[in-house]
Amino acid sequence: MALMARFGTEAKPISGGQSLTPMMNMRIARPAHLVDLNDLLELDFIRVADGVVEIGAMTRHARVASAPEVVRELPLLAEAANTIGHYAIRQRGTLGGSLVHADPAAQLPLIAVTLGAEIVLKSVRGLRIVAAQDFFLSIMTVDIAEDEILTSVRFPAMGRSTGWAFDLVSRRRGDFAMASVALALDMDDAGRVSSLRFGIGGVSPVPARLEVVEQAAFGHQLQAGMIAALAAQASAEIDPEDTPQLPATYLRELVDLLSRRSLKKATETLGETV
Ligand SMILES: Cc1cc2nc3c(=O)[nH]c(=O)nc-3n(C[C@H](O)[C@H](O)[C@H](O)COP(=O)(O)OP(=O)(O)OC[C@H]3O[C@@H](n4cnc5c(N)ncnc54)[C@H](O)[C@@H]3O)c2cc1C
Repeated sequence: MALMARFGTEAKPISGGQSLTPMMNMRIARPAHLVDLNDLLELDFIRVADGVVEIGAMTRHARVASAPEVVRELPLLAEAANTIGHYAIRQRGTLGGSLVHADPAAQLPLIAVTLGAEIVLKSVRGLRIVAAQDFFLSIMTVDIAEDEILTSVRFPAMGRSTGWAFDLVSRRRGDFAMASVALALDMDDAGRVSSLRFGIGGVSPVPARLEVVEQAAFGHQLQAGMIAALAAQASAEIDPEDTPQLPATYLRELVDLLSRRSLKKATETLGETV
């Protein structure tokens, strides 16, 4: 914290280096000083207490994907972390680095927004907690001051009976997603939706929840017709950039496909978490 306060805009923290070093190689980032967080072993932790899973910023993607506490309490997060890049990247990349880098297609920011996580930031001035939905401001831009370090993320534990799904489409296995969907679903005893969190990534500058779709699902059974209607609504709700590489019509089709697959899978995983 003291180094960050001392060097201000001249310095950048480095965690896994999986995004910062490519940016430096391409001369997109040119920090005068690097503040290496890798010795801060106290930031590599997973704690479960009072319905909250707090994960330290230096926890590597591979540990997030496989830690029994995460698999049990946050299966959606574990599954998404396991799809990040390749094995070597998951061994080095960290939760904190991914959230601060804030690639619009990244898995962990999407899950943080979908599950309503809190981001814990520290500086010599003290502690600040920001809701994930307010943390991501624009492409690779987050609400963090130049002297702040992201120290942990607090996720509300998923209910034991909550259904969930994470799905993405990328050009090749291990590439960043062109579009991704993350869902957490609860049903009442009559099999009607009592809560749906519907997160979407890759198709807008920051990951977002599709609240219109969440509300439309409320109180309904998720039969095939309803799933198709909700997926069509999700596809209509997004407003992706139209580029020659990724036409908006194609992205809408991807979102329709991912939404249908995810809603079906979420209903199948209901009550599965033990
Ligand atoms: C080939 C390749 C494929 C990849 N594929 C994917 C993918 O499919 N999905 C995906 O999500 N990611 C992917 N990544 C990125 C990877 O997940 C990165 O690990 C992650 O985005 C950044 O984490 P890091 O720990 O490496 O951060 P770093 O590269 O060390 O830092 C990234 C940024 O965050 C800042 N920072 C780091 N830690 C902190 C902290 N604790 N507090 C404040 N600021 C901090 C740094 O200053 C820098 O600006 C890929 C990377 C590569 C090289």
